Amino acid sequence: MASSFRAFLVNDLFGDPALYVGLPWARRALLFDLGDISRLSAGHLLKISDVFVSHAHLDHFVGFDHLLRVLLGRSKALRLYGPTGFIDHVGGKLRGYAWNLVDGYSLTIEVHEVGPDRVRRARFVCPNGFRREEVGDRVAVDGLLLSEPEFQVRCAQLDHRIPCLGFLLEETVHLNVDTTRLEALGLPVGPWLMDLKRAVRAGQPDDFPLHVTWSRGGHREERCVALGTLRRVVVRERPGQKLAYVTDVLDSAANHEGILALARGADLFYCEAGYPAWDADRARARYHLTTVQAGRLAAEAGARRFSVFHLSPKYRDRPGELVAEAMGAFAGGARQSPHGLAVDDTRQLPENVESNPR
Ligand SMILES: [Zn+2]
Ligand SMILES: [Zn+2]
Repeated sequence: MASSFRAFLVNDLFGDPALYVGLPWARRALLFDLGDISRLSAGHLLKISDVFVSHAHLDHFVGFDHLLRVLLGRSKALRLYGPTGFIDHVGGKLRGYAWNLVDGYSLTIEVHEVGPDRVRRARFVCPNGFRREEVGDRVAVDGLLLSEPEFQVRCAQLDHRIPCLGFLLEETVHLNVDTTRLEALGLPVGPWLMDLKRAVRAGQPDDFPLHVTWSRGGHREERCVALGTLRRVVVRERPGQKLAYVTDVLDSAANHEGILALARGADLFYCEAGYPAWDADRARARYHLTTVQAGRLAAEAGARRFSVFHLSPKYRDRPGELVAEAMGAFAGGARQSPHGLAVDDTRQLPENVESNPR
């Protein structure tokens, strides 16, 4: 089943955390964590509408300035979500600059600070010099952060010695197109299928027209097809896909429970694996997971695919070992550290994770 989300880690396994998730049907993107994002093109950055920050440690939030720099002159509303204390972190960043010559700029930053019981909200608007404006708070219901017709984003409250959020991106319904039946109708595969899926997700009526154009043998062909026909004949509805993102967490019973409740049945589970299994004491002291703990969590959650990231740069000379440990645990082997063993890491990236854009 093809993935609906175009997800890739911005940096390598040892780099700052930042997971870019394109939503091709909406020509926009979500970002999970805001570490160094200087490798992303302006085109990628301009598509970002919502940023979900697990916590405000430097390696997860240092990219804020870069994003702000690219978006500043744009008429755009950016939403940021983070844990308790997050509004102060964003406000502190914005107060670090002078904003006296920004006439005509209209960038708005809306911050959602997610506590266990309530979500506080504040707005920072460029024409007001990014002064903090309270928007009011709301009750936090089941960790729900964002709900749209096509997808939802939820969070779990986790422990990293400070509050830290884990995230789940869940598609409302997954739409497959039966290309054999499409061909039987004399219609081509092409970008117009995005319009078809968008119309189905939006619940457009059966007589909603879809204009299909394509070239065949040098001739341009064009047809107008009613949505109802396509919906009945070629579109197959499946349960929506789930993408889980968890990083910087202690291996504790409470975190375990919270992560499993969040990520159960994920199609794709991104989980940090900061330390090798033999360095579990250090992992615990730093409130991080080991490779084996991450792999077991993913297996226990019943994840279909698993990707590790945020390995400590301390082990930069042995990525294959760490990835193999995590994948071994995920596969059920749960083998202990073959210290110094070089193994291939061909299972490191799930097949639907795109390679880095640059
Ligand atoms: Zn951290
Ligand atoms: Zn970190």
